[in-house]
Amino acid sequence: MTQDADKRGFDPGDHAVWRPYAQMKTTAPALPVVGASGVRLELADGRTLIDGVSSWWTVCHGYCHPHIIDAVKRQLDAVPHVMLGGLTHEPAERLARRLAALAPGDLNHVFFCESGSVSVEIAMKIAVQSFINRGQRGRTKFLAFRGGYHGDTLATMSVCDPEEGMHSLFAGAIARQVIADLPTDPDRLDSLSVILDQQGATLAGVIVEPLVQGAGGMRFHDAATLQALRALCDQHGLPLIFDEIMTGFGRLGTMFAAEKAGVTPDIMTVSKALTGGTLPLAAAIASTRLFETFWDDDAGKALMHGPTYMGNPAACAAANASLDLFEREPRLAQVHAIEAMFAALLPQARDLPGVLDVRWQGAIGVIEMQSLPELDTLKAAFVGAGVWVRPFNNIIYLMPPYVISAEDLQALIEAALRVTEAWARRHFL
Ligand SMILES: *Cc1c(COP(=O)(O)O)cnc(C)c1O
Repeated sequence: MTQDADKRGFDPGDHAVWRPYAQMKTTAPALPVVGASGVRLELADGRTLIDGVSSWWTVCHGYCHPHIIDAVKRQLDAVPHVMLGGLTHEPAERLARRLAALAPGDLNHVFFCESGSVSVEIAMKIAVQSFINRGQRGRTKFLAFRGGYHGDTLATMSVCDPEEGMHSLFAGAIARQVIADLPTDPDRLDSLSVILDQQGATLAGVIVEPLVQGAGGMRFHDAATLQALRALCDQHGLPLIFDEIMTGFGRLGTMFAAEKAGVTPDIMTVSKALTGGTLPLAAAIASTRLFETFWDDDAGKALMHGPTYMGNPAACAAANASLDLFEREPRLAQVHAIEAMFAALLPQARDLPGVLDVRWQGAIGVIEMQSLPELDTLKAAFVGAGVWVRPFNNIIYLMPPYVISAEDLQALIEAALRVTEAWARRHFL
């Protein structure tokens, strides 16, 4: 250690990478990955792990699918990157048309960016500016829901669950929004109607993760809840934003949750599995009705946004290749097979001490515990069992790549059950 490092108690050189959501002083060392193929991660020490969470829900076709790798390599040789201001390229043009065709209703206009959080920011800006462009100022707030998660930037944090989104930690730095309970029953629907009657005129939009609230706790709600939101938004003239960053591209067994619920939003955000977990890319997809509010001879009515790397050609090529795979390979059937295996095996966890709920939908399986003390020990136990499973808060969940074989899926679920059982008996008996 240098003298400075000695005084501090750590050597800055050992902490050049500042890690996500981590107390750097106490977090366990990260595991170096040197290879990845199919559903497996290869660690530097030679161990392999079955990835039970698809690298933060992105790697839907497994690692290193040759069709995506080839498409990216070819694009890197042709045009690795070019700005989208004043210039364009085939991968972005084609991807936008394909996303517009896949997305429900008149969601026809695709604004690209590089991360999910930024796509949510763009959706929020589209909503706000669409009112300004129609001469309505003062509509600046959003209605969002408890249990929701929409990203880590300041604006997206403001529409996250107030506790999970650290609204008090960052109080003053983030906008105040209207946060309500999802209208999952008639009483809550009544309360939400009252809120909208009172505050609807200050709102620019309503944002929700359709059918599954992900990072806020893997909570499920039904299509009727979304239909109720759609009706309220129509009644109050508010754009409804579906954040499909987690649910998009098959995770629930349909390409989008909107399709499964039979509800069409006015803006949809996508990212995570968009490139099959290869390169960063995201998009806000807006309806023609909203797009029209920007369509004018007045340059001042243009959407004022433009990320430097938006529509990166290599990332668009990866996304196009990923969409090819949804057409050529039985991805959605694979998701249904995963759902069936969850239904067969996960209920065993219901009888374990400390378990509050066990649920699954599409390729998401959830064991909700009373709490998860000693989370780091639990995480290490999963690694010891040969699986990459990343519990958070009080949630143990599995979201494997859709291509996982029946044998690997059974091994993953059984390992998860074994580790959970041993851990639950230690803490809750
Ligand atoms: C992951 C996620 C985001 C944020 O995406 P980033 O790419 O991490 O910025 C936003 N909304 C939902 C629903 C997500 O799951």
